[in-house]
Amino acid sequence: MPSYQAPLRDFRFVMDEILDYPRHYAQLPQADEVTPDVVSAILEEGARFTREVLLPLNRTGDEQGCRLEGGEVLTPSGFKEAYAQYVEGGWPSLSGDTAYHGQGLPTSLGMMLSEMVCSTNLAWGMYPGLSQGAADALRHHGSDEQKAQYLTKLNDGTWTGSMCLTEPQCGTDLGLIKTRARPDEAGGYLITGTKIFISAGEHDLAENIVHLVLAKLPDAPEGTKGISLFVVPKYLPDAEGEAGERNAVSCGALEHKMGIHGNATCVMNFDGARGYLVGEPHKGLACMFTMMNVARIGVGIQGLGLMEVSFQNALAYARDRLQMRALSGAREADKPADPIISHPDVRRMLLTQKAFAEGGRMLVLYAAQLADSVECATDAAEREAAETELGLLTPIVKAFLTEVGFEATNEGVQVFGGHGYIREWGMEQYVRDARITRLYEGTTGIQALDLLGRKVLMSQGEALKPFTKQIHKFCKAHEANDAMAEFVMPLAKLNVEWGDLTMAVGMKAMQDREEVGAASVDYLMYSGYVTLAFFWARAAQAAHQALASNPDDAAFYRAKLETARFYYQRLLPRTRAHAEMIRAGSETLMAMQAEDFGLGFAI
Ligand SMILES: Cc1cc2nc3c(=O)[nH]c(=O)nc-3n(C[C@H](O)[C@H](O)[C@H](O)COP(=O)(O)OP(=O)(O)OC[C@H]3O[C@@H](n4cnc5c(N)ncnc54)[C@H](O)[C@@H]3O)c2cc1C
Repeated sequence: MPSYQAPLRDFRFVMDEILDYPRHYAQLPQADEVTPDVVSAILEEGARFTREVLLPLNRTGDEQGCRLEGGEVLTPSGFKEAYAQYVEGGWPSLSGDTAYHGQGLPTSLGMMLSEMVCSTNLAWGMYPGLSQGAADALRHHGSDEQKAQYLTKLNDGTWTGSMCLTEPQCGTDLGLIKTRARPDEAGGYLITGTKIFISAGEHDLAENIVHLVLAKLPDAPEGTKGISLFVVPKYLPDAEGEAGERNAVSCGALEHKMGIHGNATCVMNFDGARGYLVGEPHKGLACMFTMMNVARIGVGIQGLGLMEVSFQNALAYARDRLQMRALSGAREADKPADPIISHPDVRRMLLTQKAFAEGGRMLVLYAAQLADSVECATDAAEREAAETELGLLTPIVKAFLTEVGFEATNEGVQVFGGHGYIREWGMEQYVRDARITRLYEGTTGIQALDLLGRKVLMSQGEALKPFTKQIHKFCKAHEANDAMAEFVMPLAKLNVEWGDLTMAVGMKAMQDREEVGAASVDYLMYSGYVTLAFFWARAAQAAHQALASNPDDAAFYRAKLETARFYYQRLLPRTRAHAEMIRAGSETLMAMQAEDFGLGFAI
């Protein structure tokens, strides 16, 4: 069975030596509660809970999957007990609103815990994960009555949430939704329709499930402008606010799928289920975006968590497994062969995993600070700036970290050779689990359109500027430092090219809109590589600084420096290919008619 140690040393490095979390937390309204000691205690306890409680259930959850019996979904053995411990430990309320039984701690702390949960048991983690987004959507858009009814229960974990968007004919294009909501005499609505692929739509972990459902009112305009959001509980709250009468919502079937077997992916039938409008009529998509944005960052963290655990296990195996001698002569002459970590290609794979996981952690913890500011900044300008930057980085966190997450978990299998492909070692599960992260919460293609089309080009490039300015400032500050030249020079060049490529696509798009779609995924990947290069340069600079003071754990900092070098020399050159492909434009993609692609061949 795979093992896992939460990367607490690396958390500390990123928090203390790169992103200055102590100062960040000291500026928040919760400053008194997030002292360094409290943060350490939470992270250590989170590490213990995830390793001792969740990790042992990961394999059994994968093997048993969920079962649908008499309309009830039974989760794999141990999941329910683990959830009870999670609730008892107060984890669901960590960053919840204090007015509704939340602990009010910063969002960023929840994100750190989330990485550990995703490393140890992604399928289990999706049950409480969706509650967080549901609570956020209700907190921002719900009426006072809805907040009182649902937030306390979601925050204390007695109820969980689900997000019901997808229908058979409608995935990416929510304008095609058929689920209907018609007003009933009691002042609510009756919801009728079928939703598919609903994660945690039904399960046995909690007393009640709060579904947030997109549906159309009778007078709804066509397309995405006519979508409204409803809260539809599995059990209607009674006069005391407890789970009361059963609502007409049920799970019709469970999907059989490639990975995350322990999480119930449900077909949900709403048969005139009682629902309540959240926010204004026809404005539901904007409300749902509150939930989706939280969930998108959450999915990026899933990619991160999986690469970290895959790396840890691949590393342990590579140190242990003996095969062949090193090309330059025996490394461990007393043994029949050298450990495979002696071979350059195995090192390439391990370093790829390490560079993406540790680079991803810096990016996520940076985004987490922005999320704290969006949530708590008292200064309106500061909050708006944080919101814009987080908006820019969200598709990168979601899509880049899941694309490289899938690559990194795949490399984890490769390090194990044939032993990675068989089930015994658990490495293939990470690849299967990671595969979904590139799809749900908006595919990579859709995230890429969001980044290039909606965020960057629609703002005439303005949304990109604050981030590229930061990179420019960093490069300027370190340009005279010879030790940093290997990072600063390429980074400064790429930063300029990022702007040039944006401009080039923007110009072409004025003639032909297809240019945006043709460039978008390469643009997203390019942006992801440059973003991580910025954080690796910062890590290198922090490592240089620490090494100059002769720290006790010099090996940690030397490894940081070498990983930064690996990233710059062996991963960052991928930007060349992406830049070429961005420049190649849409012509070859759009030249053929759909019927000429080949399916029409006579046999
Ligand atoms: C395990 C699992 C769990 C899920 N959980 C949930 C959940 O909890 N709640 C929920 O509501 N949904 C959930 N989903 C649904 C998921 O979000 C959708 O599958 C996803 O959004 C893609 O929609 P689709 O499958 O209909 O693909 P489609 O929208 O049909 O897309 C097919 C392909 O076409 C591409 N494409 C589509 N439109 C465009 C475009 N304009 N430009 C470029 N490319 C385009 C896509 O990128 C994709 O590659 C889940 C799905 C799975 C498999």
